[in-house]
Amino acid sequence: MPKFIALKSFTYNGKALVPGQVFDREGARWDERLLEKRYVYRFEGQEKSLVKCADCGREFESQSVCDSHMYMHIPEPKVAPIQKLEDLHPDGLTLKYGEPIPADVALS
Ligand SMILES: [Zn+2]
Repeated sequence: MPKFIALKSFTYNGKALVPGQVFDREGARWDERLLEKRYVYRFEGQEKSLVKCADCGREFESQSVCDSHMYMHIPEPKVAPIQKLEDLHPDGLTLKYGEPIPADVALS
């Protein structure tokens, strides 16, 4: 069975595909429709040149496509909680964290 390359994220026979992923055609009856609708195109490269993502095992047609897929595996950055109001407004505000902000202080 030839392989396809996914152009979008979608689910194929229960598998979550991501853009650039090379996957096996499973003879699903909507394969032709996927081609028509440009969800996929035919993989015409060499199978031995496929690059496997070390994180999720998905296969890609080249290292650069695999690299650009890696963003999926970067965890959301944790936003550090603001400890002091001075961190927000470093020039001259001396309020302590937790105190109400006076109405005449404009936070920029
Ligand atoms: Zn991956």
